Amino acid sequence: MKIIMLGAPGAGKGTQAKMIAEKYHIPHVSTGDIFRANLKEGTPLGKKAKEYMDKGALVPDELTVEILLDRVSRDDCAGGYVLDGFPRTIPQAEVLDEELTKLGDHVDFAIDVDVPDENIVRRMSGRRACLKCGATYHIEHIPPKKEGICDNCGEPLVLRDDDKPETVQKRLTVYHEQTAPLIDYYTKQGILRTVDGTKDMKEVFSAITGIIDQN
Ligand code: AMP
Repeated sequence: MKIIMLGAPGAGKGTQAKMIAEKYHIPHVSTGDIFRANLKEGTPLGKKAKEYMDKGALVPDELTVEILLDRVSRDDCAGGYVLDGFPRTIPQAEVLDEELTKLGDHVDFAIDVDVPDENIVRRMSGRRACLKCGATYHIEHIPPKKEGICDNCGEPLVLRDDDKPETVQKRLTVYHEQTAPLIDYYTKQGILRTVDGTKDMKEVFSAITGIIDQN
């Protein structure tokens, strides 16, 4: 089963993707996490990606497609995966389709977690992340057990540079210009499913599992 999560930055698609991965025993593949891991390790890819990420811009397709294809070609992805944050442009979607077609395979669903822009800006300012293990929290919706501290590794939590209000605005503009056209792209393929992302996290998840289990 191959699932793509669509939605504006901060729509909650990452949280839903992790829950899907756990329930259906498939890897959660996030290009943002891969970039951040590279950044932490100080790799050339990480340094290059940071230039774009800090500005709220997209990392160029060539770089992104390469790391994504490398990741999904690993053994643990043989039974499927849930993609979170990829594709973010039509060319990325086309490359993924081409590669899957070569393998006689295809994407099963593109699930759009739909949230209006007004809600997004409010939500993102409450996001907190652990730069050590990558865990993410929200001060209202998914608070850590101890305020400001990561449940997993005890590190202090931070507001990521790319979650700061000015960067969020920029990311929303980029989303509407470059990523939202994918809604049309997957609608034409007949695999787009939309869920109301303004609902409670559990309700959103039950809408998603309803879609997956029906097929
Ligand atoms: P995310 O954690 O998915 O919100 O991604 C954080 C940042 O990583 C984005 O704002 C982009 O700069 C970069 N990024 C992640 N995935 C992609 C992608 N598929 N294409 C281009 N840039 C990406």
